Amino acid sequence: MNLLRACLALLAALAAAGAPAQPAADAQAQQRLRAHVEFLASDLLEGRGTGTRGHELAAAYVAAEFRKPGLPPGVSNARWLGQAQRRQASHAAAPPLTLTRYGPSFALVPGKDAAVRPSLTERDMALSAPLVFVGSGISDRALGIDDYAGLDVRGKIAVAVDHLPAGVPSDVAVHVRSSLPAMAARHGAVGFIHIGEGPRGPGRVGPLARQPVTDWVDSAGLSGRSDQTRAVIAVSPEWAERLFERAPMTLAQARAQLRSGKGVKGFALAASLALRARAAWHDFTSPQVVGILPGSDPRLAAEHVVLMGHLDHLGLKADAKPGEDNVYNGALDNAAGIATLIEAARRFTEVGRPPRRSLMFIANTAEELGLLGASYLAAHPTVPIGQIVGLINLDMPLLLYDFNDVFAFGAEHSTIARTVAAAGSGLGVAVTSDAMPEQSLFIRSDHYRFVQKGVPAVFIMTGHGNGGKDVWSRFLSGPYHDVNDDLSQPINWRAAARFAELNYRIARTLADADQRPLWYESDYFGETFAPAQPKARR
Ligand SMILES: [Zn+2]
Repeated sequence: MNLLRACLALLAALAAAGAPAQPAADAQAQQRLRAHVEFLASDLLEGRGTGTRGHELAAAYVAAEFRKPGLPPGVSNARWLGQAQRRQASHAAAPPLTLTRYGPSFALVPGKDAAVRPSLTERDMALSAPLVFVGSGISDRALGIDDYAGLDVRGKIAVAVDHLPAGVPSDVAVHVRSSLPAMAARHGAVGFIHIGEGPRGPGRVGPLARQPVTDWVDSAGLSGRSDQTRAVIAVSPEWAERLFERAPMTLAQARAQLRSGKGVKGFALAASLALRARAAWHDFTSPQVVGILPGSDPRLAAEHVVLMGHLDHLGLKADAKPGEDNVYNGALDNAAGIATLIEAARRFTEVGRPPRRSLMFIANTAEELGLLGASYLAAHPTVPIGQIVGLINLDMPLLLYDFNDVFAFGAEHSTIARTVAAAGSGLGVAVTSDAMPEQSLFIRSDHYRFVQKGVPAVFIMTGHGNGGKDVWSRFLSGPYHDVNDDLSQPINWRAAARFAELNYRIARTLADADQRPLWYESDYFGETFAPAQPKARR
């Protein structure tokens, strides 16, 4: 990280030396940004919850903005993706699970001893399969780990113990943990049980039993979770231990050996599990808006740079008392990001010079439900995914102070780092490396779904300089995801205009550069998701 910071500072200094002074963001831009945020965050839109009329109205607003004169003609190609179907799955009744261990069978109490996640694609699921212990359940080429080597889990239920090798960066760790059911599925497993400890352990059974699952489903019968095992199962700590009875080692021994760094070779457990689950489905649609600004260079116009933000927020507060504020306005999360998106799109016209590559402006839905809109678009892109060459995500810029630095989450993985540093230096904005690595923000917003398809991406947030650190901590412990992320906050429109200008410049530079952005050599995300793409040296 220190080396990265030094490199970025050097690049910024070099770029600053050659960059002309830029005019301050103008008062009209501030007015436009304010108008967008005031409309999108008004009580009338009722918190823009995914699948609600408030969100549909907000989407209509963005589409109308994309059609206005003053925006590039191509942006009038704003498209609704209104057919994108979402599904919420819950259990129609508590699903019975039966565990058979070397002879006797036990009925597990659903929601207490064990639970299975409701299915989005199998309304009636019946499953009966032997259990196989698969160590930590990691099968990852870039990390050089394959816990499935030599094990046959086809048609079986993989049982993994939560463990990551020392030294894995926090964003890679979160990615690996969330990919474990997909890793099991790749090896042919039909079910997956993850045994955690501490905060990752007890308590998982209850939520899995009670919480509905929402994701996209498409006409081909796929869902956003089709890469995972059919069943994702949790068991209580007591039953987790009992799964290992008569096995070559106990759960405690397996844990100890994993912690010692020696690794554990998996083995068949002396148990099998049967379950039946009936899902109740609630289907709904929610629009996304995509605007295209065609590129002008015939050699590069097929390539697209994406500028994207999520339009949805949390809707209405169900448990508000009568007379209490019940609207999650989401002024900063993420009316501010969408206002930035619209303003950055408009900036492309002011310059009077069309970009060489095409630009794609996306207002996503269902980010707050788990990056679902972005997941759908990444799986069903409006142009072949290989033609999306770089992406900038806008999510919750804290436009409450005169920021003088930004965090560029994910920039260190690709040459986008250089672009962000150069654009920032032209505006006197420093680029700081991630000050909140424990938050793993690189994989917690929409851009990550495109990263998983191999697209280099960056997620820009206002930084900790010039009082930003206190502003951030006050926001995260107060208005964040609460009803008072609203227009009563002292939004700094000068900062908003500067932030829009910065993102415009980054998009512009990516669109006009001779070379498309490249992942860096031996970067985890580039090697994992874009192994065949050419790479750049750091
Ligand atoms: Zn949010």
